Amino acid sequence: MADSFENDPGFPYLGISREDKAKSLARPFDSKKNCWVPDAEEGFVQAEITATKGDQVTVVTARGNEITVKKDEAQEMNPPKYDKTEDMANLTFLNEASVLANLKERYAAMMIYTYSGLFCVVINPYKRLPIYSESVIKHYMGKRRNEMPPHLFATSDEAYRNMVQDKENQSMLITGESGAGKTENTKKVISYFAIVGATQSAGAKAEEGKKGGTLEEQIVQTNPVLEAFGNAKTVRNNNSSRFGKFIRTHFSSAGKLAGGDIEHYLLEKSRVVRQAPGERCYHIFYQIMSGFDPSLRGKLKLENEVSYYHFCAQAELTIEGVNDKEEMGLTQEAFDIMGFEDTEVMDLYKSTAGIMHMGEMKFKQRPREEQAEQDGEEDAANACHNFGVNHEEFLKALTKPRVRVGTEWVNKGQNLEQVNWAVAGLAKAIYARMFKWLISRCNKTLDAKEIQRDFFIGVLDIAGFEIFDFNSFEQLWINFVNERLQQFFNHHMFVLEQEEYKKEGIQWTFIDFGLDLQACIELIEKPLGLISMLDEECIVPKATDMTYVQKLNDQHLGKHPNFQKPKPPKGKQGEAHFAIVHYAGTVRYNATSFLEKNKDPLNDTAVAVLKHAEGNQLLLDIWSDYITQFVRSYYEFGGSTMLFTQKLQEEQAALAKEGGGGGKRGKSSSFMTVSMIYRESLNNLMNMLYQTHPHFIRCIIPNEKKQSGMIDSALVLNQLTCNGVLEGIRICRKGFPNRMIYPDFRHRYAILAADAAKDSDPKKASTGITDKLCNEGHLNDEEFKVGNTKLFFKAGILARLEDLRDEIL
Ligand code: ADP
Ligand code: MG
Repeated sequence: MADSFENDPGFPYLGISREDKAKSLARPFDSKKNCWVPDAEEGFVQAEITATKGDQVTVVTARGNEITVKKDEAQEMNPPKYDKTEDMANLTFLNEASVLANLKERYAAMMIYTYSGLFCVVINPYKRLPIYSESVIKHYMGKRRNEMPPHLFATSDEAYRNMVQDKENQSMLITGESGAGKTENTKKVISYFAIVGATQSAGAKAEEGKKGGTLEEQIVQTNPVLEAFGNAKTVRNNNSSRFGKFIRTHFSSAGKLAGGDIEHYLLEKSRVVRQAPGERCYHIFYQIMSGFDPSLRGKLKLENEVSYYHFCAQAELTIEGVNDKEEMGLTQEAFDIMGFEDTEVMDLYKSTAGIMHMGEMKFKQRPREEQAEQDGEEDAANACHNFGVNHEEFLKALTKPRVRVGTEWVNKGQNLEQVNWAVAGLAKAIYARMFKWLISRCNKTLDAKEIQRDFFIGVLDIAGFEIFDFNSFEQLWINFVNERLQQFFNHHMFVLEQEEYKKEGIQWTFIDFGLDLQACIELIEKPLGLISMLDEECIVPKATDMTYVQKLNDQHLGKHPNFQKPKPPKGKQGEAHFAIVHYAGTVRYNATSFLEKNKDPLNDTAVAVLKHAEGNQLLLDIWSDYITQFVRSYYEFGGSTMLFTQKLQEEQAALAKEGGGGGKRGKSSSFMTVSMIYRESLNNLMNMLYQTHPHFIRCIIPNEKKQSGMIDSALVLNQLTCNGVLEGIRICRKGFPNRMIYPDFRHRYAILAADAAKDSDPKKASTGITDKLCNEGHLNDEEFKVGNTKLFFKAGILARLEDLRDEIL
């Protein structure tokens, strides 16, 4: 090869050099003595066995301490030829200690990608590495996984090749904790597909996009647009995505790029009005205020300082190392490449600014009355200027909404707290709906109609299991999603193993470990499960979070193994009302605000005002599928004449225009609880995933200090548990993880049975060797299986054969 991969600047972070290999092979090693023992700080520490007594072993650790541990606490160490191994499934000793040690050793050399069977594990390097360059991409294109060192690109290329060759849709599931690198890896995958799909077919250049950039550019530039509105600084991550996404890149059957689309999940709405210490609101707020376009603030009637605006100035205002003005330039550039019209962009800014003004609207309670009124009008006027509605109507709607009492409609006064709730609720709803609009607008651009869409590769970037001190409704949902994803993984592994055993003619029933998760999934989603009961409680009059908890306890406590009374936390804060035994661990949930979060109520009257916005098409669009209570009750009561007002007719007309109306009511978002909407989108996602060939990327955060090169062992081990890597290994061990084709086996172990190995048929020769080893008591029938083309071994068995071989050599 003219430019060998070994000479690429990226190579030292990917492949093991010959010198390195030689160095580890020279490392002294004694399989009888060397082992790992648990260590509070390091997770595990190297040790040498000095004595064995009963089920106790005495060891001297690498630190020079002599300690005695139970025999099964000392884990076997793999021989030096496995140092920095690229696929941990090949380890002859599959144990936690070896997995952690291998990842640590590789990370110390900044080799961040490692395989573990079906998983590609990546540890956040917290520094830019030269491993994503175009030259590296070129080296990975068209190569098989075992031809190249581990890389996200190898997994991506595998997905691409599978798609073209097997004519099957693919998916890549990227999960991990916040800050683990999901979004960074997602971006690299998308760029890879854009490049591979555009360079495909007769050296053609990428198709021209409609307006703005090429399709290839547009697919990549969707990201800055989404990040401006959907990412924020959090304590853990300066650019944390506050939503999950599934990005599909479409291709023609020849593998040519044919567009894309995005689905999003669970945008964190609360951030729009509230930020925790050390955090910020969504990037776009600060970008608008950055002065990138000097006339923008004036047009939006904004003050010069972002600190003026309560909704986005409760904690941090800036991010170290980030210039919001420059970022605004990048957002603007992305809008251009994506072909957004100027008015569309302006409507986004207007609506965002409107939210900022809403946060400044002041109300006061009338003395001795449960009735609030506005305290000044300027901020409301500014908000409504941007929304394009009448501010007096808007204020009246907020302070005296129209509500139904029996069959009558009255304007009911609200107290101060109620008004403030309504303002915040409305601000959050506008933002969330605007985000949804933004996604569908991007999809419109990525819909390249001129190229046939035959197959897709979907990339899922979604938060992993969350187990905090205080877990609420949001955690219940994200954990439920992860429970489903893990079940999907286990099931996939089961199917593949089963197929392999069948193909090889092996008698073995591999267990479907996906079923392990079924009980928890049913507890959450089945009728009388947590979510159905929550939905039900949301329509019961006078129900509260605590009546919900009571009903849960009556239904499940002591009856369902995955539903438990929360145990007092170990030195942790946070009251809890129930606990669920998830796949990743037992999580204590606090049910406070569950009903409110699920109902997510809105001031209908104010929505009705916004539904008549003028000069802000975006605002009209985002409410078009929202049917107000007023209209709804018209349907419910069969349309009594008493309810016929001017407004009602208008709303109905608007509805009819959008193809809404009675028939659509079950579908309209305003009739649905948050859980119903989530459940529908999760089911769609899962149905889609089950029809793809999946690839799994597990991102790991090395430490909580955003520091490069440092591994917090306890933190990493915990993630390896939550993300299923360790469980995957446990499952692997139940089967026969190590495999060897007959010619290889004969070649390597002929020395153990020279006569048998002489047989000209490699299979006969190999079974001759294993027969002899069985007769000599070195091997037994349960430890290996004879397949059509290869031998299958339980974990650890090959190490025994290696020892025998060493003794002879
Ligand atoms: P997540 O989406 O999992 O919350 P991100 O992908 O946003 O995490 O990563 C958090 C930060 O970590 C990034 O902003 C970046 O600074 C750093 N980072 C993550 N992955 C990489 C990588 N492969 N190379 C360089 N830096 C990375
Ligand atoms: Mg992210």
